Amino acid sequence: MADPYNPPQGQCRQCWAHAYDKSIHKALDGGECPPCLSHVGGCPDSMKVK
Ligand SMILES: [Zn+2]
Ligand SMILES: [Zn+2]
Repeated sequence: MADPYNPPQGQCRQCWAHAYDKSIHKALDGGECPPCLSHVGGCPDSMKVK
């Protein structure tokens, strides 16, 4: 199983964590997730694993 905090090269750390650490979105209680929304148009290179 994927490690939420150890994404493979080229992946966005934030999006990876949100995809695999279900507790993050659970805490939103079904509401929208601002960090995910901010990456809808693309993830910043600074957050991708080099
Ligand atoms: Zn992202
Ligand atoms: Zn999210």
